[in-house]
Amino acid sequence: MTANITANADVLRAAFGQAANGIALTDAKGCFLDVNAAFGAMVGSTAVALPGKSLADLAHPDDRAEMLHLISRVRDGIIAGFVLEHRSLRPDGTIFWMKSSVSGVRLPGHLPTLIVFGEDVTERKEAEATAGRSWAEMEETLKVVERQRREKTALLEATAEGIYGIDRDSQCTFANPAAAALLGYDREELLGKDMHQLIHHHRADGTTYPADECPIRRAFETGAAVHVDGEVLWRKDGSSFVSAYSTAPLLDGDRIVGAVISFVDRTEEVRVERDRVFLAEVSDGLSTSLDLRETLDRVAHLAVPFLGDWCQIYLVDPNGALQCRAAHGQSSREHLVRSLVDRFPLDLAADSPTPAAVRTGSTVLQEVVDAGLLGKIAPESEHLRILQALEPGTALSVPLRARGVILGAIVLVRDRGHPPYSAAEARLAEELARRAALAIDNARLYEAAQNSRLRAERAVERTAHLQMVSVELASALTVDDVAGVLVDQALAALGARAGSVALLDTEANALDVIRTVGYPPDAVERFQRVSAEARFPLTDCVRDGEALFLRSGAEREVRYPHLRELRARNGDGAMAAVPLSVNGRVLGAVGVNFPEPRDFPPEERELLLSIARQCAQALERASLYEAEKRARAAAEAAVQVREEFLSIAAHELKTPLTSLRGTAQLLLRGIDKGVSFDLASLKQRIAIIDAQSRKLSVLVSQLLDVSRLEAGRLRLDRREVDLFAVVQDAVAQAQARSEGHAIQLRGEATRATVDPIRLEQVVTNLLDNAIKYSPDGGSILAEVFSLEPGQAAIAVTDSGIGISVEHRPHIFDRFYQAHANAHLSGLGLGLYISRQIVELHGGTLRATFPASGGTRFEVILPVHS
Ligand code: ADP
Repeated sequence: MTANITANADVLRAAFGQAANGIALTDAKGCFLDVNAAFGAMVGSTAVALPGKSLADLAHPDDRAEMLHLISRVRDGIIAGFVLEHRSLRPDGTIFWMKSSVSGVRLPGHLPTLIVFGEDVTERKEAEATAGRSWAEMEETLKVVERQRREKTALLEATAEGIYGIDRDSQCTFANPAAAALLGYDREELLGKDMHQLIHHHRADGTTYPADECPIRRAFETGAAVHVDGEVLWRKDGSSFVSAYSTAPLLDGDRIVGAVISFVDRTEEVRVERDRVFLAEVSDGLSTSLDLRETLDRVAHLAVPFLGDWCQIYLVDPNGALQCRAAHGQSSREHLVRSLVDRFPLDLAADSPTPAAVRTGSTVLQEVVDAGLLGKIAPESEHLRILQALEPGTALSVPLRARGVILGAIVLVRDRGHPPYSAAEARLAEELARRAALAIDNARLYEAAQNSRLRAERAVERTAHLQMVSVELASALTVDDVAGVLVDQALAALGARAGSVALLDTEANALDVIRTVGYPPDAVERFQRVSAEARFPLTDCVRDGEALFLRSGAEREVRYPHLRELRARNGDGAMAAVPLSVNGRVLGAVGVNFPEPRDFPPEERELLLSIARQCAQALERASLYEAEKRARAAAEAAVQVREEFLSIAAHELKTPLTSLRGTAQLLLRGIDKGVSFDLASLKQRIAIIDAQSRKLSVLVSQLLDVSRLEAGRLRLDRREVDLFAVVQDAVAQAQARSEGHAIQLRGEATRATVDPIRLEQVVTNLLDNAIKYSPDGGSILAEVFSLEPGQAAIAVTDSGIGISVEHRPHIFDRFYQAHANAHLSGLGLGLYISRQIVELHGGTLRATFPASGGTRFEVILPVHS
């Protein structure tokens, strides 16, 4: 039995030692008594090292308390054993899961011995842990997916981007609210619709867009994402918008089952970009010129057609005038817009959009230009007709403002049929106006700067000219010298091509041109002297005492149409005529001619007037000087004439006196000596006395007549008489005085109202001359005859010695004698007095010279006073 027991114990020991499972024996407190190799290997200690340590020491600190508790309960007999899966700590620090199955073997009266079966359950434990973790993760993932789904839905609902899905037949499977709103549909209306046919059927240019060319289709074919920018999509109401869209394929495994398309409306972006480019062009275009007119043209042509089919620009000048430009996108209609601004100036007080924009400084947007508005803009029928022909549809009047000042307005108009101007377009137009106003302001400032520089230069030039005039006038003594200075300086000061100076002859009421430069000689000759009443620039200027400035050939044509031919030859440009006046008295005028039109700015007019003023004074001085010189010469001549006269008179009076006295003394001496005169010789002496005393009497009456004439005291005593009878008497007396001449009388009774005594004096004088200057005798013819109605003539013709050509012009002058023959001549007063008497009758006395010789005098008289 013992042997059996021992044998059995050996078997048990061997089994204990070789068992694959870890087995340990401990005391009641869990302190190791023995461990097998497997246990030792499991816990990482040799069997030798373990005794002294307890089972609880092997347990992980976290599990140790529970282990101690369970051991104490087995020891106390409360439980027979326990199984605990706990973490265990190896000496090398590694942790493993151990399943400890502990049974208490209690011998009576002893504390129990504990048998511990230990098993490494790390693998199972980890597998269990993993399994537990996967489940939790799964649940977590599901939550995340749900959250993401909700987020995505919210995103789809909230995004401004339009998103819709289609299946392989292009039919809409879903659409977000933004897609529906952008396209103008309800969401339900989109579902199931062929989206290409619904919203993508035409291109921007209006051509059809075949479905098989649509890029969205490519998403199906290639499986790749597509991005397209700039194509239009069509709304339910037929309008379209520029879009950018992206499309991505929808996959089920490897199979493409549809596509998702997201799109945005790029209209605003495109507009903003276009506006930016436009404004950049505007800035560029306006920065290139400082010329106002060019700037205005540029503004007009930049605005059209981008901001309007046509446009007008009105500028309010600082001096109140208006400057206008216009442009039309169609060149064939440009003339209409131009004629609007040229012919119908803007009435700033009018109740219409553009004047209102200028007055208030705010843009006026006229969405629809209707008939009522047209009537307000164009009260005149012609204005209205042109405006209607332009068919305006919608209009903007935008003020032009720079440095806080309203310069005018720009008017933009679109033809009928276009949508009304939008607020965005009004803002863009205001931007354009802002830049345009700046450019206009700059151009004006530049122009002003240029002008003031020019003005300063001109002022210097003017002063130089006026100084030059003063210098030259200082040495100009005569009227002719002054006229020379005047014409030269006037031409030089204004750069004129031709000029003339004319002086007024107040007595003759005529204008004498005394100096010309630059006119053709025949024209100069033709207009040497013109009546002051004639219609010429110079005569008008003299009559009115006002300067005359005609800026172009056209202005001259309006005022002097009758001088067209003259202009064609002398130049068809501008002309000026300025009066020459001193103390309000007009002496004449100066005229200048230009080959080109000219504006005559105020300073140029002032310069010409200043030159004229200076020269007029110099002219006055010169003519006073000349008049004084003439008066002196005349006085000297008069003294000489008087002296000559006295010597002639003394001589002439002496001759008959000597003869008279000689004859008388001869008779007296004869009587004293007792000479007995026969009757014939006595008669002869007395006849001499008679002839000489008559001659004396004639001479004395001639002298008296001359002094009466010069004093204006010779009066006529008119009566109606028969001229023939008057001449007949004179002939009879003359014939009685001359035996050597045969005086014939022809004619008939002719009644006239004359002074018969004075007229007989004339005829007697002519007959006496005819006798005197026909020393060889011969026939003399006296005639009385009627001329044209109202006139009668008396003629005395002799065949005497005649008058040589050089003397003929002077025979009617006082004291003039054509024949230096004292024997024949008298005082040289007879013809002078005769002509004066005839002229007092309102008639004429002239001499003619028959080819056969001799002289013929003709008195022509009006028959009624
Ligand atoms: P006079 O007293 O010298 O004749 P008149 O005035 O009558 O002066 O004439 C002026 C001059 O005209 C004369 O001196 C004479 O030379 C010339 N004359 C006048 N009548 C005739 C004539 N019939 N034939 C020639 N010479 C004449």
